[in-house]
Amino acid sequence: MKLVILDREGVLNRVVEGYVLKPEQWEPLPGSLDAVARLHHGGFRVAVATNQAALSRGLFDMAMLNAIHQRMCRMVEAAGGKIDAVAICPHSPEQDCSCRKPRPGMLLELMDRFGAVPARTTMVGDTPADVHAGLAAGCRTWLVRSGHGQAMLDGGQLPPHVGVCDDLSGVADQLLSTPVGDEPAAAT
Ligand SMILES: [Zn+2]
Repeated sequence: MKLVILDREGVLNRVVEGYVLKPEQWEPLPGSLDAVARLHHGGFRVAVATNQAALSRGLFDMAMLNAIHQRMCRMVEAAGGKIDAVAICPHSPEQDCSCRKPRPGMLLELMDRFGAVPARTTMVGDTPADVHAGLAAGCRTWLVRSGHGQAMLDGGQLPPHVGVCDDLSGVADQLLSTPVGDEPAAAT
């Protein structure tokens, strides 16, 4: 089982000021929907793992978050892809949970759900929290320059053993060009 776990904002959809609180604020980044479709047809399961502290802050509710994710999944499906699972951390940083990235809880849960081992699981994100969650879970980890990724690179915050691509499409190119059973060169 090959699994790809994606952060949401900055990887799949545009970063907005504040939070995405309504479906119409969820706007895909160029090429991201097609990248999910290519991964899906390449035999990868694709999951999303997203911190949603806005839930615990009462800025919106689970019904609205579900509506946002329905739009996300429909747009991916219209492009020929599939989101196989969405993991949500509803907690605020103060709640000190085990699921909020940079902790690896959501990634471990998704790997468990799909029977995926860390060595064949890829985490893709645009923030230090995403990258550190991926490394903490033992996954192959990629930073994309889209969203906040370039700022992280400019800040010199990139840990070792993290691959870098312009965007999700670039990561998909890397993963799909790697022969089955081999591992992406940039993440060794
Ligand atoms: Zn949590």
